[in-house]
Amino acid sequence: MALSYLKTQLAELELEINEACSKASRKRDEITLIGVTKTYEADVMNASIAYGITDIGENKVQEITRKYDQIVKGVKWHLIGHLQTNKVKYIIDKVDLIHSVDSLRLAEEISNRAQKIDKIQDILIQVNVADETQKSGVSPDSVIELVQEISQLKNIKVCGLMNIAPFVDDPETLRSDFKVMKGLFDRLNDIKADNVEAKFLSMGMSGDFGIAIEEGANMIRVGTRIYGKRNY
Ligand SMILES: *Cc1c(COP(=O)(O)O)cnc(C)c1O
Repeated sequence: MALSYLKTQLAELELEINEACSKASRKRDEITLIGVTKTYEADVMNASIAYGITDIGENKVQEITRKYDQIVKGVKWHLIGHLQTNKVKYIIDKVDLIHSVDSLRLAEEISNRAQKIDKIQDILIQVNVADETQKSGVSPDSVIELVQEISQLKNIKVCGLMNIAPFVDDPETLRSDFKVMKGLFDRLNDIKADNVEAKFLSMGMSGDFGIAIEEGANMIRVGTRIYGKRNY
């Protein structure tokens, strides 16, 4: 079958994930691998699921709604891209974890929509560590305050933090940003609220997942290394 390249790619990726885990004295089963399937169609996605992918990540609402019914059931869906308030209603019944919450207003809309379908929506707070102006995410200084505000909302659970590292030639230069993320992540548990629990630290992509794992990531979002280069 033509899609068997996915099996090879996944096997190679697993070797490297395991290598990073042993370097950091961590266990492989602490880490959730999210296959980032943006621009890929359902046949590719379903093949990767057959080869072991349990979690898929999409960065656009439209791609989730378009492909949702074609994907085998039981897989977990992650929204990893920017989410506009007016689009929450399209995905609230579909996604297991929203990685990209960066304002109280968005969190309020998520909570309201979740309440309508009797759901507690798991979310992460997106942090803009490198303070890149073109990127979404809250500044490290504002994270704790935002989580405190969001913790007042009824139908949301804050499960951790997410970061999109800038594209760099040498991923080693990202290590200090990842350390900042881990420091913030550890501080989340100081917030005493029933709906705040530091479970997931989502950082690391194709170019930098090894260093992210070494610095404490337990969710990595990998696209290119599994599915190949994207054609937009
Ligand atoms: C596309 C994307 C990824 C995966 O990037 P690769 O470099 O292809 O692994 C991870 N996270 C987010 C938010 C993305 O949009």
